[in-house]
Amino acid sequence: MKWYQLDVERVEQKLQVTSRKGLTTKQVEKRRKQYGYNVLETQKNTSKWLIFLKQFQDFMVLVLLAATLIAGLLGEYIDAIAIMIIVLVNGCFGYFQEQKAEKSLEKLKELSAPLATVLRNEKWEKIYSKEVVVGDIVKVSSGDRIPADIRIVKSSGMETEESTLTGESLPVMKHATAITRDQLEAQDQVNMGFMGTLVTRGSGIGIVVGTGMNTVMGQIASLMANTKKVMTPLERKLAELGKILIVVALFLTALVVMLGVMQGHPIYNMFLAGVSLAVAAIPEGLPAIVTVALSLGVQRMIRKKAIVRKLSAVETLGCASVICSDKTGTMTENKMTVKELFIGGNQLYVTGDGYNLQGDFFLNKEKVDEDYPNLKAMLLYGSLCNNASLQVKKGKQYIDGDPTDGALLIAARKIGLTVNATEKYRIIKEIPFDSDRKRMSVVIEDENQMRYLITKGAPDVLLPRSTYQENAQGRSVLKAADIEKIDEAINGMAEKALRTLAVAIKPLSKNENLDNAFLEKDLTFIGLYGMMDPPRKEVKAAIEECNQAGIKTVMITGDHVKTARAIAQNLNLLPANGLVLEGHQLSEMSVEDLEDVIDDTYVFARVTPEHKLKIVQAFQRKGHIVAMTGDGVNDAPAIKASDIGISMGISGTDVTKEASSLILMDDNFATIKSAIHEGRNIYENIRKFIRYLLASNVGEILVMLFAMLLAMPLPLIPVQILWVNLVTDGLPAMALGLDKSEGDVMKHSPRNPREGVFARGLGYKIITRGILIGIVTLIGFMVTYQNNPDNLIYGQTIAFTTLVMAQLIHVFDCRSEKSVFARNPFENIYLVFAVLSSLLLLLVVIYWEPLQPIFHTTYLGIRDWMLIIVLSALPTVLFGFTKK
Ligand code: ATP
Repeated sequence: MKWYQLDVERVEQKLQVTSRKGLTTKQVEKRRKQYGYNVLETQKNTSKWLIFLKQFQDFMVLVLLAATLIAGLLGEYIDAIAIMIIVLVNGCFGYFQEQKAEKSLEKLKELSAPLATVLRNEKWEKIYSKEVVVGDIVKVSSGDRIPADIRIVKSSGMETEESTLTGESLPVMKHATAITRDQLEAQDQVNMGFMGTLVTRGSGIGIVVGTGMNTVMGQIASLMANTKKVMTPLERKLAELGKILIVVALFLTALVVMLGVMQGHPIYNMFLAGVSLAVAAIPEGLPAIVTVALSLGVQRMIRKKAIVRKLSAVETLGCASVICSDKTGTMTENKMTVKELFIGGNQLYVTGDGYNLQGDFFLNKEKVDEDYPNLKAMLLYGSLCNNASLQVKKGKQYIDGDPTDGALLIAARKIGLTVNATEKYRIIKEIPFDSDRKRMSVVIEDENQMRYLITKGAPDVLLPRSTYQENAQGRSVLKAADIEKIDEAINGMAEKALRTLAVAIKPLSKNENLDNAFLEKDLTFIGLYGMMDPPRKEVKAAIEECNQAGIKTVMITGDHVKTARAIAQNLNLLPANGLVLEGHQLSEMSVEDLEDVIDDTYVFARVTPEHKLKIVQAFQRKGHIVAMTGDGVNDAPAIKASDIGISMGISGTDVTKEASSLILMDDNFATIKSAIHEGRNIYENIRKFIRYLLASNVGEILVMLFAMLLAMPLPLIPVQILWVNLVTDGLPAMALGLDKSEGDVMKHSPRNPREGVFARGLGYKIITRGILIGIVTLIGFMVTYQNNPDNLIYGQTIAFTTLVMAQLIHVFDCRSEKSVFARNPFENIYLVFAVLSSLLLLLVVIYWEPLQPIFHTTYLGIRDWMLIIVLSALPTVLFGFTKK
């Protein structure tokens, strides 16, 4: 017998669990041991050794190693060993960097790993999907990916999309009854839910019958493509630029070697020097360091509650010019409280805030009780057509489910309606809420087997479907005058920033058609709820900050236009002449029409998720870089189409999370602002070390080239060149990646996404500083060598020291786009530490006797140091004054 052929009870028996209680911790542990984790084993991890070896895979490094081998064979042991050690240390450094980047990306993956809601020890809890075991009772709802193969126990209008398994993209309706037929394909097993497939509508509960590789998905997992690491735009740009720089560096190196040989330097010496120079000067590691900087930045973002799913988002964040944000939950707290009711033509006020179950109902300052006509009925309807429940955790009330639904439960409690009151009713059918329909309905049956439909939803959706109304005198036809009065009430509530919700019912006969199309019409209007959802405290300031940073904030909401306008005004989001557009207007507009007005529009109300795509497209056509938030399953297309798709960590569905490039752990708008702030900062830091590394390389090549042109001996020997490269490429560059922003990065407009790597004067700065570093090094060498022609080592030590010092001073220049004097050099403690350690290493190489023969160095006196310091400070100080 297959799982789909068994009754739910049999499945429960076989798996030793009941769907009321779930597994116990003991059972879970035992099953975990037996079946392992719920993961698909599609990817093998690259071994650490391979990552280490990869560091030496670069062509020039291989040539260098070969050359060193030849040097060793020729008897130049010291050189050979020294070069080997430097290459090895360099390799280790690369390895650790890569590991660090890898680890932080791993952590990211973990943080954004899918979650599952399971019933364990009689309590619903959220766990990582990989921890689900056979026998777990799981709850899924619209937008979730099913975490394992499940036998459905309960379906509330649950539909799934199984195209990943079956290729069929039409949704499949799920139910819980056993199927007797045999040999069914996955798509016909309509009482099963399969791992990795998507719930598109409704919700359901199921028992896990298969996990990991023992699922239908597991069987085809090996067919799934492995995810490849994709380069971010900047990494790609740098990789391309790298190719050009390789050619330039190789050409210049070849020139150095050729000139050297022509000047009579031994070929072997020139060859080794050339290869070392090429290894040092070719910035092949740039994309890798960018990855490290991005992943370090990503870690900082995690601390600010933003999880980056795609590394490229970090760069794009810095270019964002529009944030389109959902209102409910992102700009507001999503803590709804019913404040007003409209029943039988009268306005009632409700007291008691938040999750406080105490509160009273007032009519014109006079307290009313449960006998007030239709009050109890309306609150009962609100509790029946409801998917939330009130729970207590650590002595505190909280709502499990949709906060709108939760608010209705709390309002009902205020006149003493508890769960007991609703238990008498049986739910026959449910048409779930979604943002497109803007309503939810249930068909219920009472103790006397009387059936009726309860619908709740946006008033402007329900009113046109209502023919009657209920008031103190009973049911009557809903006339134009009544509708006018209701509209007035809606407007009154909305202007106070209250979210409005209408309730209507329809009596049904026992054998009445329960088709969706037939059900939700000719309704009897009962009343309105007006509920408050306060804006989050931080949002107003965050919007203001974005404004100053040249980023426009746009509110998108399914709520009533007046509610939206009131909240937007509270948040200072809507300027006096700003437009507010409504969903029905958007439907009539083409993307081109929208493009004409979009720059003046700040609020979109009563929109459905489909409209969001149009909004993204219109902004993009205007040249904007758009960040778009979303939570529901239907938001995914707009999130995908936007430049930075943002999903919600708490309320978001798996589908939107998968489509997004950024997840807000706290669902908070202010976190988007922090992420943009960080994104801008990371980009500036990347610019800093590109500038530093390339200027260093230019200096290194030029000093050799100038010397050869002037027919001088080699100012630097291969080991020295490699050492400079190691010490400067290493810690100081990394420390620049951790630099704080210069001034306030949120005070200027977003960066142009088409901006090149060398934009805003970066190329000029690299070349000018590089040339000067080359020149001062050469001057140091020339002055010393001309005075001591017999002591080449002395001249080389001066050149070597000047070059290193010039770079270690220049690194402070790279922190500022303006001038080295614009910033306090001790502000970045990592950089100070990195420079001090490089300096210490330099002193060791110069003064520690055993190393002197290896690095061809000799003692330097005070006067030498004075010369070195003056020369090496020159490039930085000079440009510090010119400020260019
Ligand atoms: P935002 O886009 O700002 O996040 P929202 O997504 O909460 O807003 P929707 O959830 O689409 O907006 O809600 C739109 C309207 O649907 C609400 O104004 C309300 O009238 C109605 N509504 C919201 N939640 C429910 C629910 N659970 N049941 C029935 N109707 C609802």
